[in-house]
Formats: sequence, structure tokens, C-alpha cells
Amino acid sequence: MEYPRIQCVRCGYQERFYRALEQCPRCGGDWLDVIYDYGRVAQVWREELPRRANTMWRYRELLPLRDDANRISLGEGGTPLLRATNLSLMLGTPHLYIKDERQGPTGSFKDRQASLAISVMKELGVTEAVLASTGNVAISYAAYSARAGIKIWAFLTSLVPAEKMREVAIYGAQVIKVTGTYDQTKRIAADFARRRGLYLDRGIRSIAARESMKTVAFEIAEQLAAYLGPSSPSVPWRAPDWYVQAVSGGLGPVGVWKGFEELYRMGLIDRMPRLACIQAEGCAPMVLSFERGLDKAEPILNPRTRIITVATGDPGPAYTFLARVIREHGGAFEMASDEEAFRAIHVLAKLEGLSMEPAAALAFAGLFKLLSKGVIRRDEVVVVNCSGHTFPVEKHLLGEDWFQTIEATRAPAPEEGLLGSLESLGRHAQRIAILEDDPGARRLLRRILQARGHYQIFEAENGRQGLELIRRERPDAILLDLMMPELDGFGVLEALQEDEDLRTIPVIVITAKELTPDERARLSGHIQALLQKGDFTDEELLREISERAGEEIQ
Ligand SMILES: *Cc1c(COP(=O)(O)O)cnc(C)c1O
Ligand SMILES: [Zn+2]
Repeated sequence: MEYPRIQCVRCGYQERFYRALEQCPRCGGDWLDVIYDYGRVAQVWREELPRRANTMWRYRELLPLRDDANRISLGEGGTPLLRATNLSLMLGTPHLYIKDERQGPTGSFKDRQASLAISVMKELGVTEAVLASTGNVAISYAAYSARAGIKIWAFLTSLVPAEKMREVAIYGAQVIKVTGTYDQTKRIAADFARRRGLYLDRGIRSIAARESMKTVAFEIAEQLAAYLGPSSPSVPWRAPDWYVQAVSGGLGPVGVWKGFEELYRMGLIDRMPRLACIQAEGCAPMVLSFERGLDKAEPILNPRTRIITVATGDPGPAYTFLARVIREHGGAFEMASDEEAFRAIHVLAKLEGLSMEPAAALAFAGLFKLLSKGVIRRDEVVVVNCSGHTFPVEKHLLGEDWFQTIEATRAPAPEEGLLGSLESLGRHAQRIAILEDDPGARRLLRRILQARGHYQIFEAENGRQGLELIRRERPDAILLDLMMPELDGFGVLEALQEDEDLRTIPVIVITAKELTPDERARLSGHIQALLQKGDFTDEELLREISERAGEEIQ
């Protein structure tokens, strides 16, 4: 048999892959799959992959384009898999990784889709195409189509932020704003394409779109092996325990799942991950349908979320597919509120240096929930798709006092005034002592305080040093670890109790230790709060400090 082949999922019809068919010629089904000669591809990859360039096209044998001359590339794929070091410490999840899809050519994982889909359009001789989008697909297709010489008609719901619309337009695509939901926009776009006889991008129903997303799985498995070693001596790559993604239409997880299946067939990984699909509370048709045990998604007619990127009310066949996978293999549908996603933006920016749009942050908000429910265990290997787009930070995310002003031209003595202003920057800060022997934990606490307020921070790495520090600096509050060399946290507390002046300083104990009843008794009455390492959020810590040590003075 010759490969690749195209196969109808509904009736099983097969033919040799010649071009990306849209419908099954036998039954009219519109979900067609491509199957490849996996034995041969595995052989080629084992030999050649290490020498290939780091873009998604290194997996060329499993991407359905006939002629490489039609390839439209901007260097998509090959995005880094980052270890989430500070976040891991905060959550108590040592194996947390972030697939940083913001680093694609237009800043989202849609670049993989656009590269293959536009290449396929070029192969088919398409010169004008119509699509509907919640923003990022339009941006990416507009960029790739510019290189391919294809005109794009981009139908966007009017809720898409203006910055994104302008980005679509700058590439020369025709933007059409539709006042309505995304699902309505999709219908209008399809109608327009039919009337004009133009090629319509079929989203999740398009072979190219789904096949492109496999490359996320290929990269994750290859990159995880670089961190954690091969699965076994004969299985070179590694699957995570969980793949977590914010989901709208569901293209990402559907494609990623097929990618892992292919790796499994080829003997490159030895098991399948579980999928966690995260939706916005105001538009969570998959989560709600799964809870009710449905095979077909019940659409949400009026999405109520400000996170427009994920406002697909009717996920169609993607839900049916994902619900089956999650029922058979484990996994989860979860939702988080807009506010939880906005909060996750702050956490990821301030702890990991990653600024992202709310849709990408939604995946992290969902992860936090699944961890606290115990659905994802803290020792499991978790990869979160940071699906993308560094985005001009929206005003409401920062609040009022995110900058300080210096008046450089103030009369009468400008120099003095300026110096005075510089002096007063960061004054009136609360003074916090951190007594903690683990440098990672110290870094996390320092980072949380640095990023969110006016704190002056003092650090000591054992109890004896800490006590000297406290006597010298008289901090407003103490963050105290219990297990420390030289003098442990209990010893520090006893010494503080004996000192008239130090007795009243609020102490927040932060410990990894399971306390015995006896130890609890020793702490009681002498500390203001107890936080468990790996099980508190930055917000909780800051709340404890401001409640215990009085309000911050700005
Ligand atoms: C497209 C997109 C999603 C949703 O992806 P699907 O797999 O199509 O559901 C989430 N986040 C960002 C940033 C996106 O661009
Ligand atoms: Zn068929």
C-alpha cells in the first residue's frame, strides 16, 4: 500500500493522498484523516532528525503537503519548553513545564496552522480565501498569506480588541467586523464564501489545521526527553502525564492528541498523556456538556466572557472527539473565571517573566484548580501550552498606581527636588525578614514581595543569622521557615518570646513540614499564620502580610 493515505473517519473509505480533500467522495463525511507509513518515518526520524533545523517542518514526513516548493514558512514551531522554576516552588510541582508558543512568528500557536494551511492553499492554487476568527487565526493567516500571494477576507467579531484587528489589516487582509457572536460570524463568513465562490477555511474540519497541531506534541516529547531523559533505553522520547491547554474550538488538543498517538505507534514514546481542556466560565460548552454526560456539545448561545479568543459557543465535532478521549484515557474538562485568568496573568508575568494574553493565562488558572482539586497530582509531569500572543497590556489589569512620577522641572531647586524624589522612591516600605535556608524558596518569597508592593526585604539562611538580623533591623514582619540549620524555627520563636521588644513582631511560618500535635502546641499563640510550602498562592501570602503587619503605606 502506498502512503500517505486519506481516510474517512465515518465510513472508512480510503484513497492515496493526492490533495487535501474536503469531503468523503463515498459518504460525504467531512472529517478526513491522513495516515502515514509510520514504520518508515520512525526509521528516518531516528537517523536524520538530530541534523534538521528547529522548526515544525523538521517533522515534514508527517505533514500533508505534496511538494516542498509550496511551503510557506516564517520559522514557525521549534518554540522552547521552559521549566517553570518559581511557579513550581509555589505550587509544589517539581515537573511543571511551559511550551512557550508566544515565540511563534505572529505570537501564537496558530502560526503552525497558518504555515501548513496556507501552504496547502498554495498547492491547491487558491488565491483568495475566507475565514472567521476570534483574532489570532486571522493575524497569523494574514501574515502567511502575504508571503503566499493569497488574499484573505477575515471575518472578526466586533468584540475582538482593536489592536488585533489592526494587526490583521497591516498584513493586507480585508477585515470585516461582525457585530455578533463568533458562531454567528462563522456562519456569515461561510455564507459569503459560498456566494462569492471563494475558498473557505474550515477550521477544525480542515486536514491541514489538525495535522499542523501534531507538531506541538512532537516537540514536547522530544524536548521533555532532553530534560528528563528517554522513556527507556529503546524508547527515545517522553510523554508528559498531562497536557494542559485553554480551549475554544478545540483544534489544539485534537491535533496534539493525534501527534502523541503517532509517536506511540512509532515507538518514540511509551504511553499517552492525559488532556486537560480549560474553558472560560462564561463560555464553557465542553465542560458543561461533559458534566451532563453528553456525546454532542450543547452550544452556548450567548457567551459571557471578556476573553474573546476562547469564545467559541459551539465546539461541534471537536467536543465529541475530546469527550471520547477523556472518557477512555482519563483527563479533564475544567473552567476558570475571567478574573482567575487575569490573576494568572500577573502570576506568570511576575514569577516567570512571561507576559501573555488572557486566553493563554486561562490554561494556568485551570491548572491551579485541577491541582487544588487533586485531579492533577503535584508530582506528575505537566506541560502547559502557553498558546500565545504577547499583547499590549490591557489597562484594567494594572489598576491605578502602577507607576510613580518624578517631576524633573520642579522649581525652585530642580536638582534638589529630583534627588528628593529619588530618595523617596520606595520609602515607607514595609520591612520584611525572610528566614529560610533553601535558596529556591527564598527566591520565590523575595520575588512575590518584590513584584507586588513596597517591601524592603532582609534575608537570612539560618536561625542564628536570622535572629541577629531581626535584632539589628527590627522588621515589621517575619517569614519563618521551621527546618533550618544552626537554630531552627522553633528556637527562633523561643528567642523572640524572651525579648520584650521582639515579642510583638508578627511571624508567619512557612513550612514544608507536617506538624505533629506537639509542634502545633509549641507554635500556638506565638505565630500569626501558618502557610504550607507548595500550597499557598502569592495572593494569600501578601494578604497575610498586610493583615498581620498593618496596611502598607504608599
Ligand atoms: C486559538 C487559541 C486558543 C484556543 O485554541 P483551540 O485549540 O482552537 O481551542 C487558546 N489560546 C490562544 C492564545 C489561542 O490563540
Ligand atoms: Zn466516508
